[in-house]
Amino acid sequence: MAYIAGVTTADFLSGFVHWFADTWGSVDMPVIGKNFLRPFREHHIDPTSITRHDFVETNGDNLCLTIPLSVFLTAKLLTQENQFSDGGFQVYFLLVLTIFVAFTNQIHKWSHTYFGLPAWVRFLQDAHLILPRQHHRIHHVSPHETYYCITAGWLNWPLEKIGFWKVLEGCISSVFGCVPRNDDFKWIKAQY
Ligand SMILES: [Zn+2]
Ligand SMILES: [Zn+2]
Repeated sequence: MAYIAGVTTADFLSGFVHWFADTWGSVDMPVIGKNFLRPFREHHIDPTSITRHDFVETNGDNLCLTIPLSVFLTAKLLTQENQFSDGGFQVYFLLVLTIFVAFTNQIHKWSHTYFGLPAWVRFLQDAHLILPRQHHRIHHVSPHETYYCITAGWLNWPLEKIGFWKVLEGCISSVFGCVPRNDDFKWIKAQY
């Protein structure tokens, strides 16, 4: 149960961050434009470039992000001597969440890798324990407005079914008056 909750939370976070980066703002924005928004949008134009990134380039950012959680978990494990009032749910949940957040980009990279994947990775993909390749291809159909979750992809179908991203975009548009994916056309044109 803690495993399912952990993976699902990581999946949702990956979807939310990805959706945000794909949908709002401009690559010309200071700091986040170049460092955060641009890699997501470049990935739509050249999806296989991710497969040429090495381990550090692929996973560095997310690994750094999970350092505080890892420190917290280690401290908790060391101080509690495995006596958990909730049967360890919280620790297992956070552990699974940390691992899946840390390696989301690695999993995403594997979903774009068609040659030379280890058999155990293929097995995890085929069992849909991590993002399967065919599944992620749905996001890569322009205009890239669905199937944002890239950890396990478990939430993609249900979120699409309830129109989650569209409703969220509608709310944000009506409150802030901004148009989703406004920057895409302009930016793609500038690339060529
Ligand atoms: Zn995307
Ligand atoms: Zn992708």
